[in-house]
Amino acid sequence: SAATVGDVLAGSARRYPDHVALRDGGLALTYAELYDAARRLATGLRERGVERGETVALHLPNSAWFTVGYYGILLAGAVVTPLNPSLPPTVLRDQLEESGAVAAMTHPTTIRALAEAATPGLRLTVLAPPTAAAPGPIPEEGSLPLGAASFDDLLRSTPIEERGVDADDLAHLSFTGGTTGRSKAVEVRHRNVVANAIQTACFRGAALPAVDEYGGVLLEPLAAGRNDHMTAPGEGRVVALAPLFHAMGLVSQTGNVLAGAEVVIVGRFDPARFLDTIESRAITSLPGSPALFHALLAVPGVEQRDLSSVRVVNSGAAPIETATLERLGRIFPNALVVEGYGLTEATMCLTLHPLEPGATPPGSVGAPVFDTELTIHALGGGAELPVGETGEVWARGPQITAGYRHHPELTREQFVDGWLRTGDLGRLDADGWLYLVGRAKDMLIYKGYNVYPSPLEELLVRHPAVAQASVIGAPDPEVGEIPVAFVVPAAEAVGTSELAEELMAHVAERVAPYSRVREIVFVGALPTSAAGKVLKTELRARYASEPA
Ligand code: ATP
Repeated sequence: SAATVGDVLAGSARRYPDHVALRDGGLALTYAELYDAARRLATGLRERGVERGETVALHLPNSAWFTVGYYGILLAGAVVTPLNPSLPPTVLRDQLEESGAVAAMTHPTTIRALAEAATPGLRLTVLAPPTAAAPGPIPEEGSLPLGAASFDDLLRSTPIEERGVDADDLAHLSFTGGTTGRSKAVEVRHRNVVANAIQTACFRGAALPAVDEYGGVLLEPLAAGRNDHMTAPGEGRVVALAPLFHAMGLVSQTGNVLAGAEVVIVGRFDPARFLDTIESRAITSLPGSPALFHALLAVPGVEQRDLSSVRVVNSGAAPIETATLERLGRIFPNALVVEGYGLTEATMCLTLHPLEPGATPPGSVGAPVFDTELTIHALGGGAELPVGETGEVWARGPQITAGYRHHPELTREQFVDGWLRTGDLGRLDADGWLYLVGRAKDMLIYKGYNVYPSPLEELLVRHPAVAQASVIGAPDPEVGEIPVAFVVPAAEAVGTSELAEELMAHVAERVAPYSRVREIVFVGALPTSAAGKVLKTELRARYASEPA
């Protein structure tokens, strides 16, 4: 039968018992220790009344205990709902309610918000200790609120026989990023997580035989050294900075476990110190969002750093410009710089660049991962479109989730006969490479013509005076909507009206007349979400309140 997430952890604990799995400051846990801690935690949760299929919230910053807590919950047969630790209490309460969480794991710095937001259904709070990545006051003995336990209490439990968990059981209730509206809780099964971990860990663009089940057999490609980290199994060192509560960080945990990698957890983002960590820990793999990479590229003297240990730099979660990927290639001399595309509704990942130099055509987000099909459809649920035409991306594969909790209608709309309608717009070329042009919700219509933001953003960033750009549609009584660009000038540039004219001319020379940018707004920074996505909803609101 198919493997569960717990099976993957158990497998790596057998395969790599003495390899370090997690490092967080001075704290280091081997695979054997991680598995042992997770089993104890699972027992502790069961002894305190958490039943199979009940939901446990993970409400703590990135730390080694996040990962221990994650596997502990899953081994107990419960469902993880990861919550952004910086949510305001009102939103936190909504998400606790929507997930139906009966217990929550939290941290000294987040426990107050949790107490404020607590729903009547929340019976148990488990407090994780502070670590280097997530510092905080050490809670005093006996100071915990009623119904609370400490991680240490749970870790003192003796592992008992594991609960039967099925690959079809839910593993996560994952909230979408809320970039386009209110976050929705996505139901992700164990089989989805295991499939997506395998798909991302063994992706080389090579066609592996299609199989229905993801049991132990498929670990073979990893044993042959074909893993995400371009290193022998068990020898990769990944730095974890992306939030673990978001799909990319959450699901990557199991991809890393599968590869036997060492995960180095870093706390609050300080770009220069982050580069120190890469050097001192000889990091081999660096996943992140475009926002992270933009910040790294802006560190003074970054070109002089010794970043030669890094073999893979992997960008995801939001569009990244080809020019930025090229610059990353220059500061990481031994790395393949790749991009992946996915969404919470597809567990995490749908496409990746294969790990072969020069394989991916510029501008493409890669090809579908193993056992995944993509098609392009006319907007509004229309017919499948021929190769080369732009429309909505639909996806089918073992990582497609069960849908949204409490939203059966929305689920029926977005999940059709095994296909997920992604809400993203793009085209496929004859060789199967996917090119994205933006989200359906971000497309704008100028005099009846569809205008896509991503290609305009690409063009703007190609101009030497531009560091970052984001294009929105602004309502216009005569033409419907006009493309307006928010531009962060490059370090040495100044946002003058002459520069605005120059940038608009730069775009106009390269696009059809209806796609021209009609207005430029210079800003110091673009608003981004916790997952590193530009919040266009905020840019639209800002424009509406003070048009340039
Ligand atoms: P919500 O659905 O609540 O608005 P969200 O879209 O931020 O939130 P996520 O599941 O975190 O929820 O994000 C998935 C989206 O991120 C995709 O639909 C796509 O628009 C975007 N995305 C992810 N990777 C890439 C990429 N490599 N290039 C362009 N866009 C990407």
